[in-house]
Amino acid sequence: MNQNSSPLDSVGVLGMGRFGSFWASFLSTQFKVSVWSAHSVYEPYPFIKGHFPVETVSLPRLCEVPVLFLCNSIGSMKEVAAQIAPHLKAGTLIIDTGSIKSYPLRQLGENLPDSIEILGSHPMFGPDSAKEGTAGLPLVLTPFRCSEEKISQWKKYFLQMGLNVFLMSADLHDQKAAKTQALTHLVGRILDLMTLSIDDCEIATAGYKKLQEVTASVGKDSEDLFEAMQILNPYAFSMRKDFLSALQKVLKSIEQSSFHQLD
Ligand code: NAP
Repeated sequence: MNQNSSPLDSVGVLGMGRFGSFWASFLSTQFKVSVWSAHSVYEPYPFIKGHFPVETVSLPRLCEVPVLFLCNSIGSMKEVAAQIAPHLKAGTLIIDTGSIKSYPLRQLGENLPDSIEILGSHPMFGPDSAKEGTAGLPLVLTPFRCSEEKISQWKKYFLQMGLNVFLMSADLHDQKAAKTQALTHLVGRILDLMTLSIDDCEIATAGYKKLQEVTASVGKDSEDLFEAMQILNPYAFSMRKDFLSALQKVLKSIEQSSFHQLD
């Protein structure tokens, strides 16, 4: 770690969308970082203190790094695996960063050669939620096809970078993420559509301001990411069903209230 250029200290990041640029900036505080993206261009995040220059390289050169982070959209995982497979050397570690875990890991497992190691990760934050700093923010690691030694090494690196690391299976991650992240994004999307009610108001309560924060923190995420969280997470359907059923119960109790009889 810390900007020397031994092979173990070099990492690559594929995909310079909203999250990939942010993640490359964050990693560049500790590692020599190379990046590649099909169309997007790396933009450093100024609120990340002490980041070092990041090098943009070709796809074959990116695949020479010993550790490659994938920050492409979840739906493109199969296509990206096919793009990188011919360039990767045996022993390369691929770390995906998708907001759901079972689906992308299955795609990588099925489409990358057995000689390639695969570790799932999900930083539970992004360019909006990390603005006030990354210290103590949660990151999930989901062991998949990877040596214990590499899992411990990356757990240690992320702890040293001030993150709070949780190890769990991809399935457990997806269960928990459906009840927390997919729910938050669903509510944020709904509130965002109610444009008038999330406007600033001089008599806004503290609770209302928190709703505004939720809306702002998810509003810039892509449609693609929202749909992946809601459709490719196998537990999101039941979360939405619970949400709708609870909403219907609340609306029914309002309709049936005796207050309707008051003069
Ligand atoms: P995004 O802004 O929509 O970016 C999508 C990225 O996927 C772009 O870099 C795009 O590359 C790449 N991509 C799409 N199709 C591709 C293909 N067929 N081949 C190669 N690259 C392709 O989404 P995002 O918010 O950055 O999310 C990217 C990943 O980060 C997702 O897996 C997401 O779950 C994860 N993540 C996001 C957040 C967050 O806060 N946003 C937090 C944690 C994890 P080009 O633009 O160059 O075409």
